[in-house]
Amino acid sequence: MAPPMSGDTRIPAIDGWFTDDALLGTRCGACGATFFPPERTFCRNPACASTDLADVELSKRGKVWSFSVNHYAAPPPYVGKEPFEPYTVVAVELSQEQMVVLGQLAAGVDPAGLKIGDEVEIAIEPLFTDDDGTHVAWKWRPVS
Ligand SMILES: [Zn+2]
Repeated sequence: MAPPMSGDTRIPAIDGWFTDDALLGTRCGACGATFFPPERTFCRNPACASTDLADVELSKRGKVWSFSVNHYAAPPPYVGKEPFEPYTVVAVELSQEQMVVLGQLAAGVDPAGLKIGDEVEIAIEPLFTDDDGTHVAWKWRPVS
């Protein structure tokens, strides 16, 4: 009998922060402010403080605002490879919300070719695999 398959299940590294192809934020019904990560209690706009917060999909594209190649292990949720490999973190200004969201550069993309202002899109990619399945998170991939 074949051993049970592992790695078939895609598990969000963080629950409720993204779908299969988009980041999830919340938008305030009173003032229109958008939050990421999702704000679940009340609007952080000090002039508002409404509790009318709805889930919204955020822009799938944005522009590179800043990026850096990290040569040290990052805290969760950025689970690195074993053995450690340098990885690139990109700060992306979302096209509609104009808020900056950090994420890793997509697998197989050489950061040497990345420039401030480049357009990127979200990619839900594996972070690591264990007995429970493949843990996935959002990353940023240049739009070619
Ligand atoms: Zn508000």
